[in-house]
Amino acid sequence: MATALTIAGQGSPDAYAMRVDQALAGITPQFEGAYVHVPFCFHKCHYCDFYSFVDREDRQDAYAARVDAELAAMAPWVHAPLHTVFVGGGTPTLLRPPVLRTVLGSIRSRLPLAAGAEWTVEANPETVTAEVADALVESGVNRVSLGAQSFNERHLKTLERWHDPASVARAIGFLRAAGIGRINVDLIFGIPGGTLAEWESDLRSALDLGTDHLSCYGLTYEANTAMTVRMERGEFEPCDDGLEASMLERAADVLREAGFAHYEVSNWGRVRAGDPHAEECRHNLLYWRNRDWLAIGPSASGHAQGVRWKNVPRLGDWLAAEGASPAVDVERVTPDMRAGERLMMGLRLHAGVPEGELAEILQLGERGAERARAIADAVAEGMMEHRDGALRFTARGMMVANTVLARLV
Ligand code: SF4
Repeated sequence: MATALTIAGQGSPDAYAMRVDQALAGITPQFEGAYVHVPFCFHKCHYCDFYSFVDREDRQDAYAARVDAELAAMAPWVHAPLHTVFVGGGTPTLLRPPVLRTVLGSIRSRLPLAAGAEWTVEANPETVTAEVADALVESGVNRVSLGAQSFNERHLKTLERWHDPASVARAIGFLRAAGIGRINVDLIFGIPGGTLAEWESDLRSALDLGTDHLSCYGLTYEANTAMTVRMERGEFEPCDDGLEASMLERAADVLREAGFAHYEVSNWGRVRAGDPHAEECRHNLLYWRNRDWLAIGPSASGHAQGVRWKNVPRLGDWLAAEGASPAVDVERVTPDMRAGERLMMGLRLHAGVPEGELAEILQLGERGAERARAIADAVAEGMMEHRDGALRFTARGMMVANTVLARLV
């Protein structure tokens, strides 16, 4: 159990018990990356539970000014050049190009970035124009994560995505022409009514575009989303579990043949001669390795030395605040929780958890013996293995990783 230090307030910045800088008092963060959340979207997709809402373009300038103020307040907490920046959302590329340049310029001028830092911006295909691509490159962005989700018009409609499949290739064309070298494509499988053949076709369409990184997520029915309500009303049948498992297996097979490494449960990177890890998302690796990252923007979550927090998830309150964001859900992670998180996140990676670290994790908290038994069971079932000095999932275990991990945490 985490120790909750604050309770979310509502209505005005004064109603919150603490700002992020106050939550960090007494610790020395070792920030290695920064996450910046842009909450605006063109349309609210029916399956989405991210903090995002339809943009009326009337608060973009205020948003950019507040990001700058928040960065200025948090910069003194950054003690070494950052290796990653991830601007996500929402739809960051929905910001008007001048506003986008302002936000990216603030990040660049307020935060120290290491030479060669990975800088990713999330984009929806229909929002990428030549002007947007130029703004990204000129600001220092070197990686774009494109929310394609599917190349099948019927499935895009089911998800309530508004782009047409051809816009993905168009967006990639603009990005490549501007000089963005690394492009991820997000795909969703397990869409109601989808078949294995259609899923394979989505994978091959993404590969045909020359992408070097793919994230493949099974559709999840989050509480309170329009899609979940429709499913509960019986308007459609969710994808069968067996078919969804086959889709994940098909992804693993197709992408292995195409020269990709399955380096995390939902992520594949093209293996490059000389550096097999070159295409892996270094920012997401910070999350999976439980490192420290800074959070900027409404509802962004951060972590530093066992302290987790979320910036206030209300745009009005976040805009009205001064300095660091008001914080909600501040938690000081207990040894037991930290042990569970390190196992959960580390095992999501193909590299697994090194044996030395595993021994240390199993000493933490009250559930070490129980976790050791669950690991032994998973090894006996062929889901995990001790190999090359680490505990890791087998290829078969990786397909059901979430179920196995639930037993450990
Ligand atoms: S575009 Fe992305 S963040 Fe925006 S509503 Fe759709 S899924 Fe959510």
